[in-house]
Amino acid sequence: MSGASVPEKVVIIGSGPAGWTAAIYAARANLHPLVFEGAISADSEMIPGGQLMFTTEVENYPGFPEGIGGLEMMKAFRDQAQRFGVRIKSANVEKVDLSKRPFAVTDSEGETIQSHAVIIATGASANWLGLPSEEHFRKAGLGVTACATCDGAFPRFRDAPVAVIGGGDSAMEEALYMTKFSDPVYVVHRRDELRASKIMQERVLKHEKIKVLWNSVPEEVLGNNTNGVTAMRLKNVSTGETSEVEIRGFFLAIGHTPNTRFLGGQLDLDEKGYIKLKDPYRSTTNVEGVFAAGDVVDSVYRQAITAAGMGCKAAIDAERWLAEQGIE
Ligand SMILES: Cc1cc2nc3c(=O)[nH]c(=O)nc-3n(C[C@H](O)[C@H](O)[C@H](O)COP(=O)(O)OP(=O)(O)OC[C@H]3O[C@@H](n4cnc5c(N)ncnc54)[C@H](O)[C@@H]3O)c2cc1C
Repeated sequence: MSGASVPEKVVIIGSGPAGWTAAIYAARANLHPLVFEGAISADSEMIPGGQLMFTTEVENYPGFPEGIGGLEMMKAFRDQAQRFGVRIKSANVEKVDLSKRPFAVTDSEGETIQSHAVIIATGASANWLGLPSEEHFRKAGLGVTACATCDGAFPRFRDAPVAVIGGGDSAMEEALYMTKFSDPVYVVHRRDELRASKIMQERVLKHEKIKVLWNSVPEEVLGNNTNGVTAMRLKNVSTGETSEVEIRGFFLAIGHTPNTRFLGGQLDLDEKGYIKLKDPYRSTTNVEGVFAAGDVVDSVYRQAITAAGMGCKAAIDAERWLAEQGIE
């Protein structure tokens, strides 16, 4: 790691698929990248390795015909980056100064590093209800998840009842997706009307496998460590009554929070808080020399493969931009 007088060429913030892919490409381009992989903290959803550290099995990343565990996959990404000499700091970035170049990056250990280019790959954390039972079954991989595209095809949800929590477009998409596997699919919504666009609402409301449970909030996810999730306890917010509904899967779709707080408003964000790219086909942001990749810019696809693809683009964009500045 260099002191303030010798800036890094490129610093990469984040160690999910986007960050490690950017690191591999940047290292192979002789940029000697430094990755801030994040720090382990008891009160945070963010951990080194990113969101896949929370999943048991990844079955849709090409190259693994039998699937691969999320932890194992992220270890392989990290090992591959290290093979090319990527330097890693196990700390969170707490603030950045993007007002002048080289940029300044300050971490949770109080160290400030300067860098000519910065790649932000800090992901977006799924929002959870915060129920202890939800956390228990989620961490155990026993039927609670925030990604139907990722986990919906698992055998435990086949021909079984599942619930999707939320009332926006994402919840409608998750519910419609789950009708390929599950029956019935309950949409649990706390109000008496959906927030989703008209077209999505129509598709959901007329789908024979979907049943909307209006004015309802989950109070508890029920089940055990052998069978996983078996039911949910709901409270009807207009009558105060509680009921138990049998389910095998509990899918959260109440939004994501992009991890951008440390930016302190220095980059343009969209209305949902995702980093806005200057050019949607590239990784450039409104600050020259700052690039962004992965779920922190993507509210649409949110997959490991798309994040990795964007990490590759960010490293190539950074490399070309550095070359234009005469920094090679
Ligand atoms: C339960 C679950 C299952 C999933 N299953 C699949 C699947 O099967 N297939 C699939 O393709 N996708 C799956 N996904 C989606 C996939 O995990 C994400 O799309 C992907 O991880 C996004 O990669 P990323 O690199 O953009 O961000 P992330 O993986 O979220 O990584 C972000 C990284 O940034 C770090 N970070 C954040 N803030 C800071 C900071 N201030 N300083 C330093 N570091 C920071 C975090 O610690 C983390 O390392 C799943 C997601 C979840 C939640």
